[in-house]
Amino acid sequence: MKIDLRSDTVTKPTKDMLDAMMSAEVGDDVYKEDPAVNALESRLAEMFGMDEALFFPTGTMANQTALKLHTNPGEQVICDKYAHIYNYEGGGASFNSGISCKLINGQRGMFTAAQAEEAINPPDFYHSPLTSLIEVENTTNKGGGACWDFEELKKIREVADKNNLGYHLDGARLWNAMVAKKQTPKQYGQLFDTISVCLSKGLGCPVGSVLIGKKELMSGALRVRKILGGGMRQVGYLAAAGLYALDNHLERLADDHRKATVIGEVLNQLSFIKTVEPIETNIIIFELDDNISETDFLNKLKEKNIHIIGMGSHKLRMVTHLDYTDSMHEALLTVLKAL
Ligand SMILES: *Cc1c(COP(=O)(O)O)cnc(C)c1O
Repeated sequence: MKIDLRSDTVTKPTKDMLDAMMSAEVGDDVYKEDPAVNALESRLAEMFGMDEALFFPTGTMANQTALKLHTNPGEQVICDKYAHIYNYEGGGASFNSGISCKLINGQRGMFTAAQAEEAINPPDFYHSPLTSLIEVENTTNKGGGACWDFEELKKIREVADKNNLGYHLDGARLWNAMVAKKQTPKQYGQLFDTISVCLSKGLGCPVGSVLIGKKELMSGALRVRKILGGGMRQVGYLAAAGLYALDNHLERLADDHRKATVIGEVLNQLSFIKTVEPIETNIIIFELDDNISETDFLNKLKEKNIHIIGMGSHKLRMVTHLDYTDSMHEALLTVLKAL
């Protein structure tokens, strides 16, 4: 039995999801004639109480489009030093939008409104880049699935308003945050100008992300998506997976969170583990004692057909997901306890 905890992106569509995909009604989405895509987009716009939504092949493309919509070349986006847009999108912020990132030294990928305010370059000081956007990530990926304090997000909105800045949420794992903190999409829709959400992580779809936002920003989104090469045709087969997942895979994220917490408790008992970061959702980040080789540890797990990944700086990561079954969970705990 292969136990793959490298990421929640490794899931495969369930039989029922495949059936929903195969029976999708499709059309040419570049002409906006794909009924399944249109249904997914309007459902998400409505769910978040926002004006418009647009389907994307990847979360990276959705985020990159948002950056482009909020900025002009030469400007600056404020984000945490752990931000996905800074660390894991191939340098796209500079490549696609010609912008730089002003990094905040936050905690587990999160920062305070005061830190955001301090990071804004004075607009009349023409030597520094013009700040145009604040970007946050919920849950934080590199921060170990941490969830933002909603009150802090509100305070950052006030900072953005006061300084005339856009406010984008990278919500690749927002579903996890909302389930863990019992929050609603509308709460987030009221706060942000644009939000990207991912369908192919916790929700278990094979492909897909959606950018949701205010009309005045989203009016340019189709063009940017086209420029980035993301105009797709009969893509309703994939949108149908998203519709299915929203109906069937949302509430169950609580199972992933529960399993992650139990794994964390077991790891905490092991003598050679230095720290386990607090677990709020489905990501477990932990550190081995300095005298234990990461490679040896990873190989030892691999011998048992258990796969996890290194995050750099001596940190290791496991992510629970739809395809991580109860029996895999039992097997993993048995192996860990015997290490
Ligand atoms: C996965 C992820 C994305 C998007 O990734 P894609 O692989 O391009 O879909 C964006 N932000 C965060 C925080 C992520 O974890």
